[in-house]
Amino acid sequence: MPERPVRVCAVITEPTVIKARAAIQRAATMADLIELRLDYLRDFDFNAPARLSSLLDGKPLPIIVTCRAVDEGGQQLIDEAVRLGLFAEALQRGADFCDIEAAHYDEAAAARLDAERLIVSYHNFTETPGDLTTIYDRLTRLPAAIHKITVQANKISDSLEVFRLLDRAAAERRPLIALAMQEAGLLTRILGPSRGSFLTFGSMAHGHESAPGQLTCDELRHLYRINRLSRDTQIVGIIGNPVTHSASPLMHNRAFRQLALDYVYLPFEVDDVDVGEFFRRFVHPATREMDWRLRGFSVTIPHKTAVIPFLDEMDETAQRSGAVNTVVVEGNRLIGYNTDVHGAIEPLAAITELQGARCAVIGAGGSARAVVFGLLERGARVSLFTRSPAKASALANEFRIAVDQIEAIIESQADIIINTTPVGMMNHSEGESIIPPAAWRNRKIAYDLIYNPLETRFLADARQHGGLTLGGIEMLVAQAALQFELWTGCKPPVELLRAAALEKVAPAR
Ligand code: NAP
Repeated sequence: MPERPVRVCAVITEPTVIKARAAIQRAATMADLIELRLDYLRDFDFNAPARLSSLLDGKPLPIIVTCRAVDEGGQQLIDEAVRLGLFAEALQRGADFCDIEAAHYDEAAAARLDAERLIVSYHNFTETPGDLTTIYDRLTRLPAAIHKITVQANKISDSLEVFRLLDRAAAERRPLIALAMQEAGLLTRILGPSRGSFLTFGSMAHGHESAPGQLTCDELRHLYRINRLSRDTQIVGIIGNPVTHSASPLMHNRAFRQLALDYVYLPFEVDDVDVGEFFRRFVHPATREMDWRLRGFSVTIPHKTAVIPFLDEMDETAQRSGAVNTVVVEGNRLIGYNTDVHGAIEPLAAITELQGARCAVIGAGGSARAVVFGLLERGARVSLFTRSPAKASALANEFRIAVDQIEAIIESQADIIINTTPVGMMNHSEGESIIPPAAWRNRKIAYDLIYNPLETRFLADARQHGGLTLGGIEMLVAQAALQFELWTGCKPPVELLRAAALEKVAPAR
């Protein structure tokens, strides 16, 4: 058994022996263990297994040698007897473990391979089967040092089955690697080792994953600080769909590290139809099946109103604005907050007096609601401009404000124009503005909620006409800062949150 604590296993998926050898050396600083995937190698002579020495000699870390069968995700067809020969040779030439699929484990394998150095594995690339415990029972009857179960998570609750297996294996003192693939299974990859999984796999870099949903070693180690996680770690995260591109994990995890808080922030991919199930099985202390220290989470599109029926309480801003973007687990109660209102308004209030200010808000979606609510609370005079005023009439009536077509903004008297539509956003309509440059004559402030790019066409046009500009990054930071305080009770390191947001949004800066 390796002497170093086993946590992160770097998977080598290089196509050539030279590249694989270099990657093995690089892994020394990134991981605790290496999995060498021979089936990815295009220039290796599988009929000359003695050449494995060129890969295994001088290994900086314990190595698992794997040569996946095609029917279990292998990259090329290799004769079964040849595969078996490779495993036997690898163990002789210094591999610490070989991984063989349970479906291919037979008498021949048992005769040639040392069970003390075997990982026997089960993979399911389509689902998390309902009879996972039966599969576990069958698998663990096969002699091996470690057993491995990898399934596909089609929804986040599939992860629960994996955690159950880990609990059982821990109770039986059986070394087990268990994880669920895909984004919905991400929490098994991050929390698995702290809940007994022998290891978790990490890719060497983006694009080098050996399975869907695999994080990089760097993300596991530095973003999620996996070597520090334990069952005592307080868990927060973000529910939404999609969530993988969110800047929040980087922002909050950096802040936790800075303040030396035993917290971790995770992405939870939850579909619209699964919100209720997520609350019941993962969140509410009265019903949840997950035994963890969940402190709360951020709520993003499309769940900001869908979560409301599952809460025990809402703060006044959440109640009056009709949307929740933050949940806090307080004892046995779930409390909903809205930090978007604070996040949207504070940065603007920091540069201008809002009492009596004439504001034009473009768009009538979720963030427009937060902006309108917050502006009215500060005594601003607000008008709404949308592409379909009839559709926006409910919002306009609720807040008793006027609504008009976007084109009418040119005639409006507004000093401050706020864009809450996605027009101008990266990978959407970058370079476009929701209003023509002429609309900027005699205005004071342009505020665009979009934060990617940092300067949208909307802001650039306003700046050229001499207006002050405010980008969406400040809202992102301000709403996160308040969330951080709600979960931890600590003052947030705002500059660090901003730096992390900028690093995520504009990494080249
Ligand atoms: P949402 O609920 O989908 O609302 C989008 C609004 O924009 C709707 O009123 C929609 O009108 C309108 N719209 C969309 N495309 C349009 C177009 N081509 N022309 C005119 N109007 C258009 O989205 P949201 O949650 O409010 O988010 C909106 C944007 O705000 C996001 O794209 C994001 O960039 C930004 N945002 C930033 C932060 C931050 O922290 N900085 C936070 C949240 C959101 P219809 O109803 O007619 O489709």
